[in-house]
Amino acid sequence: MRSRSSYYGRPWRKLRITLLNNEPLCRICGQPANEVDHIVAVDAGGTDDPSNLQPLCRSCHAAKTRAEHQHPQASGTLRVVVVWGPPASGKTTYINTHKRDGDVVLDLDALIAAIGGDRHWVRTPHWWRIAWDLFHDATRATLTYTPERQTVWIQSGNELSFEADNYGRPIEVSSVRIEASPATCIKQAMQRGASYDSSREIVEKWFKTLRVSAKS
Ligand SMILES: [Zn+2]
Repeated sequence: MRSRSSYYGRPWRKLRITLLNNEPLCRICGQPANEVDHIVAVDAGGTDDPSNLQPLCRSCHAAKTRAEHQHPQASGTLRVVVVWGPPASGKTTYINTHKRDGDVVLDLDALIAAIGGDRHWVRTPHWWRIAWDLFHDATRATLTYTPERQTVWIQSGNELSFEADNYGRPIEVSSVRIEASPATCIKQAMQRGASYDSSREIVEKWFKTLRVSAKS
């Protein structure tokens, strides 16, 4: 969505052309873009700053604008299931066998792994900061906007809790811990292609950390 005054003005037209030249493809679907979208709608406080603008094709832009008008925020009780446990213990399998069509799956481990880069970058203070923001934003958006008819499945290495106050709606959280021995996890990690050494390192670290946090 854009504001009427800036849309028709010369500065907006110039900005629009520059942006489409720099990034000619729709950021959602990759087709040629022909419109510039405000990521946060102007009505919701978004600005014309380039960081709030993205190229979209006509149909993606229309769908996003329609969603902003029709579904500003969900308000009914949202059911959230946190499925947590050690690495390679079978969390994905558990979710896939229990979720219904249309449910939302938020895999926090995968999300954080997606900004892994190389081993020197992972676990630096900057990496933690980015991982935390990503985790926080993804969870907030998912719990705020998911319609109540859909269950949100959150896959995580740790047990998580959520304050309903942060999402502007009632939230009903249940927690499922996937039980698996370290030996089973190491075996399953290796079946997914990891080496014995790295599987053992990751799995043992998880169990050690859990024991520490359970004591405190
Ligand atoms: Zn598109």
